[in-house]
Amino acid sequence: MKKIILLLIGLSIISCKDTKKDEDASNNDVPPKITLHVLDGGKIVANKLDLFSEDTTYTGQSKILADAFYVIQHPKGNLMWDGGLPENLVGMPEPFTDPSGAFTVSRKDSVVNQLKAIGLTVEDFKYIALSHSHFDHVGHANVFKNSTWLVQENEYDFFTNDSAQIKQPDIYNAIKELKNVQKLNGDHDVFGDGTVVIKTMPGHTIGHQVLYLNIGLEKPILLTGDLYHFDENRTYKRAPMFNYDIPMTKKSMEAFEAFAKEKNANVFIQHSQEDFDRLQTLLKK
Ligand SMILES: [Zn+2]
Repeated sequence: MKKIILLLIGLSIISCKDTKKDEDASNNDVPPKITLHVLDGGKIVANKLDLFSEDTTYTGQSKILADAFYVIQHPKGNLMWDGGLPENLVGMPEPFTDPSGAFTVSRKDSVVNQLKAIGLTVEDFKYIALSHSHFDHVGHANVFKNSTWLVQENEYDFFTNDSAQIKQPDIYNAIKELKNVQKLNGDHDVFGDGTVVIKTMPGHTIGHQVLYLNIGLEKPILLTGDLYHFDENRTYKRAPMFNYDIPMTKKSMEAFEAFAKEKNANVFIQHSQEDFDRLQTLLKK
């Protein structure tokens, strides 16, 4: 069975990394076997890139953004990290542009299909966690209605309260099937062994979070959520003007960079196509 799965992984467009060291099997201190996959939740053309800064730096520019989601396979259960763009985009003949003209979005494939390619089904997921509850991160969330949703309590309240249901029905409808909710108030060690840790980094939304993965690779991995959308914003610490709280975002950026340095982490910006490709390459090694 393992051979078949590995063959499927080799044939598919996604990547994964089997981090188990067989030679460690006799050691009592064997690290858990954890596998990471980076998958494709669609593409976004940011037609008005000026939205991604507090100033006029990007006026007149546009940018293509990836929309990655991630599967973490842990002996104690699997975690879906983020939900990509809405799945009703799959199969649309043309990319969809929102009424404001700010974003043109497309999604090629459903989560179910992509999981099939790595030998998994929706039922295999103990947990789902979203970096935050924006339209390009909640796409296939409802599919995981039997999983436990790990969400910051303030994020949950913000996006599910009565007025949010009316003001942002698309977001609410995309997460409302998630009934097994584990509300968090801060960082959360998902499996209790330090390998998969949700870190609270608020500001982009009220309960925005990032993911730390210490899974036996050369360096630990840090997935940014939307703390940064592309390299330049990380370099110059620019925050989108649509963030919930910009000063809070800047504080999170400081905390993130200090943590990344402390752990010597390999940082991957989830909306960066370059980082998507870089992680795929790393996981193929
Ligand atoms: Zn966002």
